[in-house]
Amino acid sequence: MKAVFFDGTLKIIDMEIPRRKEHEVLIRISKAGICNTDHEILKGYVPGFTGIPGHEFLGHVQEAENRSLIGRRVTGEINCACGKCDYCAAGLGRHCPDRSVIGIMDHPGAFAEYICIPESTVVEIPEHIPDSRAIFIEPLAAACEILEQIEIPSQSRVLLIGDGKLALLIGLVVSSTGADLTVVGKHENKLSFLEESNIRTVLLTDFVREPYDIVIEASGSSSAFGLAVECTKPRGTIVLKSTCAENLDFNPSGIVVNELMLVGSRCGRFKDARAFIEKGNPRLEKLITKAFPLGRALDAFRESEKKDTIKVILKNE
Ligand SMILES: [Zn+2]
Ligand SMILES: [Zn+2]
Repeated sequence: MKAVFFDGTLKIIDMEIPRRKEHEVLIRISKAGICNTDHEILKGYVPGFTGIPGHEFLGHVQEAENRSLIGRRVTGEINCACGKCDYCAAGLGRHCPDRSVIGIMDHPGAFAEYICIPESTVVEIPEHIPDSRAIFIEPLAAACEILEQIEIPSQSRVLLIGDGKLALLIGLVVSSTGADLTVVGKHENKLSFLEESNIRTVLLTDFVREPYDIVIEASGSSSAFGLAVECTKPRGTIVLKSTCAENLDFNPSGIVVNELMLVGSRCGRFKDARAFIEKGNPRLEKLITKAFPLGRALDAFRESEKKDTIKVILKNE
């Protein structure tokens, strides 16, 4: 099969179709989304990463012990947990110390024709959700995770920093709480997606700094952290969503003096994201800038890095 492979440089290679182990399913991948995390991996976010990247995917089950899954359109939870430890028992497999993470840590990723994943992580896609929306389940789950971690009362003022792929999804999720949301970004064409959903947006150049109850930093850039601290009310909360390869260089006294609460936030439950799509019918397909065949993955990566690009999809059909 064809696969995208990273070993310090990104290339396309031919390799054997993976063999299904016990309790795993073999999936033929139909679509995969390129995410900011993939770019950060190429920059060194996961030291020593070698292998197939990619963790946002859809496909059809080819082989499974559970015969009823065969032929089903599915995606898979990104974290493959042990199922035995205290974290797993508490429903927190995302923090299982023995987990592997698809396309990120100790598990081959989805930029390939086939993938094997544990049957326990398979999430079925109902027929009425088109691929063009279902492909967003993984990043949307990461957006939904914020509501799992903190309460956003409808009377609260929330600032979201960022207008990239993940930030736009966070904008939709936070706005569903009824909170008074402002989104600050750098790209008019990206912010317009939220404007169409009646969400208030402002360009960074026009942004007036004032205190908010909750600030969500999802710009993907370490430099926005200072802005988040500056715009959070005393005793307010900052949610950090960016996974950056580089370190922060800033003075933390604003956090101490204003007694801010910092919440790190990573991935969430796929079922929450699927329910969000089913309930709200968000027009996620508008976020797809371009689709490339898997064989042109290197072009797709370049396209995905362009300033005006939102989501780039790899197709294997
Ligand atoms: Zn992702
Ligand atoms: Zn575990």
